[in-house]
Amino acid sequence: MSYTAINPYNGEKVNEFENVTDQQLELLLDEAQRFYEQAQKTTVKSRTEFLAALADEFENNAEKYARILTTNMGKLLKEARQEVAKTVAFARYYAENGLQLLQPQAYTNLQSGQAQVEFSGTGIVLAVEPWNFPYAQVMRVVAPNFILGNPVLLKHASIVPEAAQAFQEACDNAGLPLGAFTNVFADYAQVDRIIADPRVQGVALTGSEGAGRKIAASAGQHLTKSTLELGGTDVFIVLADVDVAHAAKDAAQARLSNAGQVCTAAKRYIVASEIYPEFLAALKQEFAKYQLGDPLDEQTTLAPLSSKVAQQHLQQQVKEAIAGGAEVLFGDPSPLTGPGAGFTPLILSGMEATNPLYEEEFFGPVGQIYQADSDDEIVAIANNSRHGLGGAIYSNDVERAKKIASRIETGQVAINRILSSQAQVPFGGVKDSGYGRELSEWGIYEFANIKPVIY
Ligand code: NDP
Repeated sequence: MSYTAINPYNGEKVNEFENVTDQQLELLLDEAQRFYEQAQKTTVKSRTEFLAALADEFENNAEKYARILTTNMGKLLKEARQEVAKTVAFARYYAENGLQLLQPQAYTNLQSGQAQVEFSGTGIVLAVEPWNFPYAQVMRVVAPNFILGNPVLLKHASIVPEAAQAFQEACDNAGLPLGAFTNVFADYAQVDRIIADPRVQGVALTGSEGAGRKIAASAGQHLTKSTLELGGTDVFIVLADVDVAHAAKDAAQARLSNAGQVCTAAKRYIVASEIYPEFLAALKQEFAKYQLGDPLDEQTTLAPLSSKVAQQHLQQQVKEAIAGGAEVLFGDPSPLTGPGAGFTPLILSGMEATNPLYEEEFFGPVGQIYQADSDDEIVAIANNSRHGLGGAIYSNDVERAKKIASRIETGQVAINRILSSQAQVPFGGVKDSGYGRELSEWGIYEFANIKPVIY
């Protein structure tokens, strides 16, 4: 296994990195542990200042950091800039709120005595992260844990090594203490070894269900706390009272941004039968506006997929879905050939629960559409999934939309807006979409020692 960046637009090799040796890994773990021990003796306030410096580093060099994303995993340069901005926002949130979030809390009216609950670090946290948001996903783990004084070891996706290295450089340039953040080009066996190390107290994974099951099993074996942010088959519900043109524009964007490679992307449209033909026509018009091209070109509206492997996997899924009864309402499902990892958008209908691909996540520009006659039917379709990550509802009747939102079995729902993570709001899933929460105050408590002192 090697850490190799290949530009998915043209198939050209960008850079390759050596894996870490077992001896190097041991030294890096020692260094991380030294940071942990040191951090327990220094103030939270000092760490908020380092984190603010890390936010500044990304903000002041946004273009440099953005271009690495585009050449490593292919996202549009403008989306790469947005990701850098989001990375900055995540760091700033914990830099500005970290001190207050870790203030001891008084608990009164106990059966006996009173309690002060203290928050502190627990030890090294391993972050196993994906290629779809190579900085923002990492910052979700690094920012809250750095405030706690928990060192973070990063095992990044092997196709985005330059982004992993750039994150390390950003931390070094911002002056973070040695061992606070460490990128390790580790193989799977070394990941298991890290999890087995008693100094490692947590593992946070974002990625596929397969990776989630393996990492969680390994963490369970060693009684190490884990959080999992896995895939989704999120719904995008359109009720009959909407502005169809506006809803269709957002629906296309919610499916096609980042070339459809977003865990909370709108993967299943559920549309009120009354407006189904009108909405479908508007959606097709919007999909047609997304044109595959060079992601470094400012005019391009659709990026390639992250890799040839991802392209071939999605092509195979589409083939099997069609063989299983799905109908193509928009786009050409013939596989693109050539060195690039492009994939042109498709809209599928007729994805019945009997289709072998019904429960699978399509991680690319492939939307599925359903129609429903009532709120009960909408909820039934939405919940007929083993995933439970997110969803969106469009309606002029916000109270009705809220009632539907409460009935949907997911970790989050957006109303009349595209679901997107924000530093202030907890993010995570239920069912097979994982467990635990990132961001907000919930994100900082995941790997904290929450310790009541009762007196
Ligand atoms: P993976 O889950 O394989 O990769 C995510 C991270 O987990 C990477 O760092 C990967 O490393 C690591 N990983 C995978 N297996 C193991 C293991 N056994 N031990 C240690 N680390 C491991 O995702 P893929 O890149 O293969 O994407 C496949 C599918 O996963 C997508 O099509 C999509 O459905 C889903 N996915 C969902 C994401 C989300 O945001 N929820 C993000 C990415 C993918 P390495 O790269 O070295 O294999």
